[in-house]
Amino acid sequence: MRPRIELHERDAIVVGGGGAGLAAAGYLAKHQNLQTAVISKLYPTRSHTGTAQGGIGASLGNIDPEGDSWEWHMFDTVKGGDYLADQDGVEVLCREAVEMVYELEHMGLPFSRTPDGRIAQRRFGGHTRDFGEAPVRRSCYAADRTGHMILQTFYQQCIKHNVEFYDEYLAVDVIMDGGRCRGVLALEIHSGDLHLFHAKAVLFATGGFGRMFEITSNAVTLTGDGPALLWRRGVPLQDMEFFQFHPTGIYKLGILITEGVRGEGGVLRNNEGERFMERYAPNMKDLASRDVVARAIHSELRAGRGIDGKGYVNLDATNLGAEIIEKRLPDIADFTRTYLGIDPVTVPIPVQPTAHYAMGGIPTDLHGRVLLDAKGSVAEGLYAAGECACVSVHGANRLGTNSLLDLVVFGRRAGLHMAQYAAGADIGDLPPEPEAEAAALLSRIRNNNKGGGERAATIRDEMQAIMTKDVSVFRTAEQLGEARAKISELRVRYKDVRIDDKGKIFNLDLMEAFELGCLLDCAHATVSSAENRTESRGAHYREDYPDRDDNEWLKHTLAYLKADDRVEFDYKPVSITRFEPKERVY
Ligand SMILES: Cc1cc2nc3c(=O)[nH]c(=O)nc-3n(C[C@H](O)[C@H](O)[C@H](O)COP(=O)(O)OP(=O)(O)OC[C@H]3O[C@@H](n4cnc5c(N)ncnc54)[C@H](O)[C@@H]3O)c2cc1C
Repeated sequence: MRPRIELHERDAIVVGGGGAGLAAAGYLAKHQNLQTAVISKLYPTRSHTGTAQGGIGASLGNIDPEGDSWEWHMFDTVKGGDYLADQDGVEVLCREAVEMVYELEHMGLPFSRTPDGRIAQRRFGGHTRDFGEAPVRRSCYAADRTGHMILQTFYQQCIKHNVEFYDEYLAVDVIMDGGRCRGVLALEIHSGDLHLFHAKAVLFATGGFGRMFEITSNAVTLTGDGPALLWRRGVPLQDMEFFQFHPTGIYKLGILITEGVRGEGGVLRNNEGERFMERYAPNMKDLASRDVVARAIHSELRAGRGIDGKGYVNLDATNLGAEIIEKRLPDIADFTRTYLGIDPVTVPIPVQPTAHYAMGGIPTDLHGRVLLDAKGSVAEGLYAAGECACVSVHGANRLGTNSLLDLVVFGRRAGLHMAQYAAGADIGDLPPEPEAEAAALLSRIRNNNKGGGERAATIRDEMQAIMTKDVSVFRTAEQLGEARAKISELRVRYKDVRIDDKGKIFNLDLMEAFELGCLLDCAHATVSSAENRTESRGAHYREDYPDRDDNEWLKHTLAYLKADDRVEFDYKPVSITRFEPKERVY
C-alpha cells in the first residue's frame, strides 16, 4: 500500500532553519518575492547556531590602533586552514565580512559596544595583524550569545518577508532527476505523514555531524542528514577527513567553553601550573589555531601532565576578574556553575578537546551550487550552505568566528543565486514514485519485528566510542583500519535496526534510527578519507605521516559512495591566488 502523501509546490525550499538556512531564505524571499518555504526538524530558533558563543569575524578594526584589513583576515584564514582552503572563496568570505556585519547591525542585531558606541571586538585564535605579527581584535560579539542573536535577527527577516515555515518536518530524501533537483521528501514528525515538496530549487543547510563522536560540543540533532541524503544520490563529499577538535570542551561532557575565554586573557595550564602553550606556540601562545592547541593538550596528557593524572588540563580564567566574566562571558559562567558546580571567577575550568566542527561536507561553488565532480559540474537547482557545505573556505582547519561568517556570507550568496535561478526556471516533472525508496526505508525500520534486530542506541554508542578512540586528534593507519572495519560492521548491523514504537504520531524512535543511518554514512566517509590521506595537515594528524606533503596532497578529496558500500576517491586542485603554502609557525 502506498503511504499517504501530501504534495506541495513551491519556488524554493530551504532544508534547515539554522543561520545558513534562514540567511538564504530571507534573501530569497526579499529579492524575488518567490514562494519560499523552510523545512526544519527543529523549531528554527532552536538550531545549533543559537549556541554559538564567541563571535563573528570581520576586519572592522574598531579597537586596535593599527586597525585591521580583510587581507590580514584572508591570510590568517588560509594559514589557519593549512593552505587547503580555496583562496578565491576565502577572499569573498573576508571582503564581504565587513559589509555583512554592518548589514546585521542595521537589521537590529544587538552587538556588544565600545564606550563610544561602535561594535566591540575581541581576540580569537589565529587572528592576527600584519600577516601573523601579533594578535588582533577581530571577533564581533553580542556577549557570549552571538549565534543566538544572529538566528533571531534572520528569523525576524524571514517573518517580515513572508517565508513559510514547516517546523518539525524531517527531510528524508532529495528528489533528483538525472543531474537536476526536483524537490525534497519530508516526514511530518507530528503526524507521521510524508510530504513531497516539488520545487524549482532546493538548498540544504542542515548543519554539522559531530554526533559521530562520543565527546562533542554538538547538539544531539547534528546528525549529518543533508550530506548523507545527497551522498546516497551520487553527490560526492569533500574533505571529510578534516574534523575539528576544539581544545576546550568541559571534561567528559564535551560542552563547549568558547575560545572567547582565551581571547579575553584566560590561559591553559597543566598539572605543574605551567602555561604550556608558551612552549608549543611561542608567539600566539593560547591563541594559536585550534588544531595546534588541541594537539598540545593531547601531548601534555600523554606526557602525564594532566591534572591529578586525569585526562584534562585547566583553563584558568581567574585572572580576568568578576566584571569581565559576568559581562562578556555570562553563559560560560552559567555553564560551569551549572554543570561543574564551580565558579570560573575563582576556580580553573577542567577541559579536554571536544569534536566540534566539520570542515568537509557537500562540495559547492561560490554561489552555493552543489558540485557533482572534480570538473565542477553543477547539480541544477541544488544548493548547500553552512556547516554541511564545503566551499571550501576553512581548508584543513577552521578559525574561530569564521563559521558564523560563512553562514551569513554564503547563506546570502546562495539565497540570491537561487532567487535568480528559480525566477527563470520551470518546475519540471517529478520522476515516477519519488517517495518509494525513503518510504521503504522508514517502513523497514518501523516494522522490523525480527527477534535479532538491535536498537539504534546500541549501534550509536559503539560508533561514537570507536570514532572518539581511533579517529581523533592523533591518528594512525592501524587505528583507522580498525575504525573502518568497525564502521562497516555497524553499517551491516544497522540494516536490521529495530525500534519499539511502531506508531505514527511523534515517533522519535523512528527519527533517531533514521538519523543514525545518516551518521553512519558520515562516519564511513570520514574514516575512509582519513585512512586515504597519508600526510598531516590541519586537524588531520597522522602519527605515521607527521609531515605535510604538498607535492602529493595539496588537493581536495572527493569521496563517492559506491553500490557495494565501497568509498571511491577523486581529487580537486586547491585554488591558490595570493598566498603560496608555507610552514605554519604560531
Ligand atoms: C557550542 C558551539 C559554539 C560555537 N561557537 C561559534 C562561534 O562563536 N563562532 C563561529 O563562527 N562558529 C561557532 N560555532 C560553529 C557554528 O555555530 C556552526 O557551524 C553553525 O552555527 C552551523 O550553522 P548551520 O546553519 O549550518 O546549521 P545549524 O545551526 O546546526 O542548523 C541546522 C538546521 O538544519 C535542520 N535540519 C537538520 N537535518 C534536517 C533534516 N533531515 N530535515 C529537516 N531539517 C533538518 C535543523 O532543524 C536546523 O534548523 C559553534 C558551534 C557550537 C556547537
